[in-house]
Amino acid sequence: MQKYRHIFFDLDRTLYDFDRNNRETLFQLFQNFELQEKGISNFDEFLLTYKGINLALWERYKKQEITKEYLNITRFSETLKAFGLNHGLASRFAYEYIRLSPLKTHLVPGTMEILRYLKPRYPLHIITNGFDEIQFLKIERCGLNPFFHHIIVSEDAGAQKPDRKIFDFAFEKTGAHPNQSILIGDDPQSDVNGAKMAGMDQIWLAQPGEASEYVPTFRINHLLELKDIL
Ligand SMILES: [Mg+2]
Repeated sequence: MQKYRHIFFDLDRTLYDFDRNNRETLFQLFQNFELQEKGISNFDEFLLTYKGINLALWERYKKQEITKEYLNITRFSETLKAFGLNHGLASRFAYEYIRLSPLKTHLVPGTMEILRYLKPRYPLHIITNGFDEIQFLKIERCGLNPFFHHIIVSEDAGAQKPDRKIFDFAFEKTGAHPNQSILIGDDPQSDVNGAKMAGMDQIWLAQPGEASEYVPTFRINHLLELKDIL
């Protein structure tokens, strides 16, 4: 008998190639807003600065210290400020980022193959931290919608992984029971530890050689290894 009755996937960096798509979006903005002409000579430096600022703001957003509107604009105003540019551009930048991001559709290698393999075998769901309008659009644009029964976005759930609340929200919505469920994700804390605390098994999609203090039920380095487990 199958041990698992419900399979949950994380989205960003598990199915959706967030890093590649994000880089492409920001590069497009870098060009459209003529940031090189305005004095930022190096795109990679711009990207690195943005990532640091964005990460710090996401931590504050997770603690509910700031709103998503504040996060969305401030990550750009702070980045532009760091390069001595007029941060008045930030709200247009933020708007364009939200508009362009979901148009990028690179997927993590093996995504379509593994979803086609799993779909006839299990009900599949997504649990993702992010903004509703972006996550739903990304999923749709990537052609992932037909594979999933339920898509749980943190904004809708009112809590983010690893908070237990988003998992409970997901169990309620899907009818899944934690001890018959497993989550596949790339983030040791949000996905592996979050799912473990919620009573589910976990599969960590790790980079080769990546270390973590959280020990998952299974560890894989490529999505197609799921065929050996599920
Ligand atoms: Mg992820």
